[in-house]
Amino acid sequence: MNSRRNFLRTTGLTALAGMTGIETLFAASKKKSGKTSGKGLILRFIPYELQLRHTFTLANSSRKTTPDVLISLEFEGVTGYGEASMPPYLGESIESASKFLSSLNLSQFNDPFQMDDILQYVDSVMPGNCAAKASVDIALHDLVGKLMGQPWYKIWGFNPADTPNTSFTIGIDTPDVVRQKVAEAVPYQVLKVKLGQKTDREMIETIRSVSDKPLCVDVNQGWTDKQMALDMIHWLKEKGVVFVEQPMPKTSIDEMAWLTEHSPLPTIGDESVQRLPDVMKAKGVYNGINIKLMKCTGMREAHQMLTLAKSLDMKVMIGCMTETSCAISAAAQLSPKCEWADLDGNLLISNDPYQGVQVVKGKVTLIDQPGIGLSALDTKWKI
Ligand SMILES: [Mg+2]
Repeated sequence: MNSRRNFLRTTGLTALAGMTGIETLFAASKKKSGKTSGKGLILRFIPYELQLRHTFTLANSSRKTTPDVLISLEFEGVTGYGEASMPPYLGESIESASKFLSSLNLSQFNDPFQMDDILQYVDSVMPGNCAAKASVDIALHDLVGKLMGQPWYKIWGFNPADTPNTSFTIGIDTPDVVRQKVAEAVPYQVLKVKLGQKTDREMIETIRSVSDKPLCVDVNQGWTDKQMALDMIHWLKEKGVVFVEQPMPKTSIDEMAWLTEHSPLPTIGDESVQRLPDVMKAKGVYNGINIKLMKCTGMREAHQMLTLAKSLDMKVMIGCMTETSCAISAAAQLSPKCEWADLDGNLLISNDPYQGVQVVKGKVTLIDQPGIGLSALDTKWKI
């Protein structure tokens, strides 16, 4: 959890960022929290509390902020950027990420192109800490892409014209707020509705009273009875829903396999699918998987999961937490090969320090910029 000391440090550094730009912010932090000794890769990091535009309500939790850590990774004057977004229910925190990042010795690596060795080392230092590991992975990809002068979607050989529409998330709320959120979602072609409480049918009916856009639903493990879940899915299909994400608890494997077999809509595993070995286990249980960088330790493993899922004839959604344009732009590099994208996390916060990929008429639009495609927010944010 966020301590008072870290809260004060976060707010102080946030104010500093607004005045003097993100490079100064990282430079100011290096004495306190960064590993800067020796040559090789230089890691710096700062805590950063994301402010949510709306209180975010899921099946089992509600919050107004998300703890986050911003990362920079420098090599011979070139800097890559990453971040760790840590919704509290996933078990990471600014304290745990700071401890993990402080334990790394990246100055031992003198060649950032040896990504395999570097990221294997990062993964081996401690178990867990997936978001903290993802922050280093994203920064390393950004750095290496910049050194190569190419964006990652090009390095991977993806066609930027193939990016999918991204959904815009509507959290569980009162009918008035739900209608307001739908109004905010005008540019988006698909709405993602959070379900898993007693108000499920009311949520859908409220949205249907003001919008006929395709919907996808995310139940966040909220339904516990498989027959009730199947009945709901039949009803949702009639309401124009295109798929159902994580309808049942991740431990209900047999029930979930039954539901997928009988469901008239595709099912997607999210909480059930964290890292690469989980993809194989999801075959036969779900029709597809939701890949998130913060779950799977970053872009490298996400790319491996995408490749494996495709070989198993499974559908793929590229998703996100509430996070800045940094991690969103990193995830978007994979999106041309995904059936669906849920990359609205940066749009749900009010203090995004970066600018990256854009959503144009609801479609993820990649930028032909090296690395993950971040650019300056304005002239004072020199990146
Ligand atoms: Mg989900």
